Amino acid sequence: MKCETCAFYQAEKSQCRRNAPVPMTQGNAATAQWPTVAADDWCGEYQAKDATKAA
Ligand code: SF4
Repeated sequence: MKCETCAFYQAEKSQCRRNAPVPMTQGNAATAQWPTVAADDWCGEYQAKDATKAA
């Protein structure tokens, strides 16, 4: 169970896309971004890629 095998992992940018982008600040600029995660991270929302394809 790792982000790299999760249905919500976007590998190109190493982002979690389980939820909508969240507000963040970069310097003085406000933006919305998906959380950056590591390939070997995980969380309780994990869903295997194959499980969502079957649904
Ligand atoms: S395991 Fe959790 S943090 Fe990682 S990609 Fe899946 S939903 Fe996101």
